[in-house]
Amino acid sequence: MVPEKLIGKVEYKANLAGNNYLVRIGFERIADFTPGQYASLKVNDEGIRRSYSVASLPGKKSIDLLVDISPMGVGSKYILGLNVGDEVEVLGFLGRFIVDPLLLIESKQILFLATGTGIAPLRPMIEDLLYKKKYSGEVRLIWGMRYEKDLYWLKEMDNINRDFDNFKFDIVISKPSEDWPGFRGHVGSVIDQLAQKWSGTLAYLCGSPDMIAENEIKLKEKGVPEGHIFYEKYF
Ligand SMILES: Cc1cc2nc3c(=O)[nH]c(=O)nc-3n(C[C@H](O)[C@H](O)[C@H](O)COP(=O)(O)OP(=O)(O)OC[C@H]3O[C@@H](n4cnc5c(N)ncnc54)[C@H](O)[C@@H]3O)c2cc1C
Repeated sequence: MVPEKLIGKVEYKANLAGNNYLVRIGFERIADFTPGQYASLKVNDEGIRRSYSVASLPGKKSIDLLVDISPMGVGSKYILGLNVGDEVEVLGFLGRFIVDPLLLIESKQILFLATGTGIAPLRPMIEDLLYKKKYSGEVRLIWGMRYEKDLYWLKEMDNINRDFDNFKFDIVISKPSEDWPGFRGHVGSVIDQLAQKWSGTLAYLCGSPDMIAENEIKLKEKGVPEGHIFYEKYF
């Protein structure tokens, strides 16, 4: 599909936690997309653009974007200044970070790794796999965040957990409070504790380039075939 210029309007905007915002953009006419793809948003009058993964499922006349405004560059400031009713221009939809249905046939489990808003495309990818494609292998999401106060979408993940025994969700906090009951450290430390048949694993990594570089090597060393590792780097 060739990406199209789409004009939409902000339908909803909310602060989820910390510096993380959810922005819903509605369109009169929307282009097709596959879970995992991103939109290129025009963020100033000079035509500067920033990429944001679509954080919602296709089939609606709106898309959700999940944005961490911490970098506070031109994109972050634009998102922060948006109000309901504002017109926005996106180029949609782009990227090859999608699940290849042919690979699903030979895979025993799918591992999704995210840091920060890298969880944005993973939620619709996981919902698509479980609710729509009825994938019956194990689907595991490991989400790395710096502080537990910045977590969001926990209820939504609980709902998927309730609906599917084959969905596993782990959070790992790199700067936890003393009371944090879960994993501490980085995404890779949780991977080291998994016992699974790595040759039958598909892996999708999204978020910080450091996390991706580190865990791509780790997964290859464990035996995940090179062609079964996919990533989207947020740089
Ligand atoms: C394919 C793709 C999809 C993306 N999807 C999302 C998404 O769904 N949600 C989201 O929040 N972001 C996403 N990003 C990152 C996003 O496009 C911007 O790069 C990021 O929001 C910073 O933009 P900015 O204009 O605010 O800052 P910039 O002006 O680009 O940078 C300001 C300063 O912050 C640093 N910086 C830039 N990006 C980051 C970062 N991610 N973390 C820490 N420091 C940074 C820069 O080095 C610079 O010093 C995606 C990136 C790509 C390539």
